[in-house]
Amino acid sequence: MRRTALPLVDPDRCTGCGRCVAACPPHVLWLETEKPNGMGDKHAVLHDEPGCTGCAKCVVVCPFEAVSMVRGR
Ligand code: SF4
Ligand code: SF4
Repeated sequence: MRRTALPLVDPDRCTGCGRCVAACPPHVLWLETEKPNGMGDKHAVLHDEPGCTGCAKCVVVCPFEAVSMVRGR
């Protein structure tokens, strides 16, 4: 499948609930804390950009509208 866009997480909206991580078929999202040693707020991060298929399931599943698909990245 040709990918046309990648997800962008807005850290101000993301609560770190992890739903997008669980919903991502190729498991390319994970939760990261803002500071080392597990300190600070958790946010979803796309850790494997080439592995993302652009399916947008993470956008659909996020209850806080924190993920948007961005074209041309
Ligand atoms: S667009 Fe699809 S493959 Fe990419 S991070 Fe979101 S759920 Fe995963
Ligand atoms: S589903 Fe939304 S709020 Fe929850 S971790 Fe993913 S981006 Fe953040």
